Amino acid sequence: METHPGDDAVPLRRPKGGAAPVGLPWPHATREQWNDYRWQLSNRITSVEDLAGLCGISDEEARLLSRVSDLYRMGITPYYFSLMRFDDADDPIARQAIPCAEEYFGVEGGEDDPLEEEKDMPVPGLTHRYPDRCLLVVTNFCSMYCRHCTRKRIWTLGEAAKTEFELSKMFAYVKRHEEIRDVIVSGGDPLTLPSGRLEYILKNLRKIPHVEIIRIGTRVPVVLPMRVDDELCAVLEKYGPIWLNTQFNHPREVTDEAKAACDRLLRAGVPVNNQTVLLKGVNDHPEIIRKLNTELLKAKVRPYYLFQCDMVRGLEHFRTRLTKGIEIMEALRGHTSGLAVPSYVVDVPGGGGKIPLMPTYILSMGEERTVLRNYEGIIVSYEEARDDGRPSARPETTMPAPRNDVYRLLTGELRSLTPAGNERMARRKRRCESASPTT
Ligand code: SF4
Repeated sequence: METHPGDDAVPLRRPKGGAAPVGLPWPHATREQWNDYRWQLSNRITSVEDLAGLCGISDEEARLLSRVSDLYRMGITPYYFSLMRFDDADDPIARQAIPCAEEYFGVEGGEDDPLEEEKDMPVPGLTHRYPDRCLLVVTNFCSMYCRHCTRKRIWTLGEAAKTEFELSKMFAYVKRHEEIRDVIVSGGDPLTLPSGRLEYILKNLRKIPHVEIIRIGTRVPVVLPMRVDDELCAVLEKYGPIWLNTQFNHPREVTDEAKAACDRLLRAGVPVNNQTVLLKGVNDHPEIIRKLNTELLKAKVRPYYLFQCDMVRGLEHFRTRLTKGIEIMEALRGHTSGLAVPSYVVDVPGGGGKIPLMPTYILSMGEERTVLRNYEGIIVSYEEARDDGRPSARPETTMPAPRNDVYRLLTGELRSLTPAGNERMARRKRRCESASPTT
């Protein structure tokens, strides 16, 4: 019997202090089954008993994880499970999928809905915050329940999708509000809906003349790439323009299967953007994000956002300081292709929306010049445009001008300051020297 890809070395996670991995998961799955998203969905790991059977966790750990999964449900596709490495107790893939004690013991911190999506919800499931955009939560179901999910609160509502009646109220609201031109279809994961139900949603949105853009938020390319089949692509192509935002968080998620799924979406005319969540213990290092974004670009996926992890109850162990995000952005901007540099944003508590953060590149500003620094630390005097072609008036004074270098940059006396040891300048010098004739 044919077995699923990777059977030779099916990775099994060895939890901290847990026993050795046992058995091979799904040994009887055929390749055809493995590549069928319905098989993946019906073989999800949804209980601690399933997990214990696959990972050989201790009874004590199983009891603790049961308490966590009673609070926050668990669901892991066999495909995503197969990406885990069980020789690493801190595996970044497992960390996103397997419940951990901190979720349970961290419920005192954070809020269920820090972004206050529910307070801007005129119709159940529809958040209207920004004037020209709205968000539709069309299902509570996800193929995988990411441990760091911002909408964990909706998991307690069961795995139901919105009914036609509930959806009709959302469509009616969008229709009444002509200022809405961009609708984000999200969840849960909307691409876990049957294709017919997804088509019903897209068709009804497309009937509304002022809806110009439809965006879909989904983790399907990452956790269930086989869902991106011909049937789904045909639906998406039919109701375009549709933009798809997904969430790759680690370079190891950019597998051949995931890349093929993104390629199928692109061929169906659906641009794929990525919204990484910055997660402690998963991707909180500049090199991981740089590698992730490079891999994504190779798959023609645009790194769009780097999201600060929200202050959701039970997620404190995933949160990093803002300084970590700034450090990562500092390591990206100028050091890699601009296409690989996302916007780092924090969605502020209280419903204030997304605020972009970046390292500071403006050191000082004067009427005629601004002092900037580049990614290498070179400080440059940038001459401003003159409004009327005449320089600003200078008062006559006998006071001595300040003599520090920033002031000299502001007055134009200095053009730039280059730190000692700058590699680019050294390269230039070497090139000049090798080009100049020897005497
Ligand atoms: S797929 Fe999206 S909505 Fe579902 S659990 Fe993961 S992050 Fe949350």
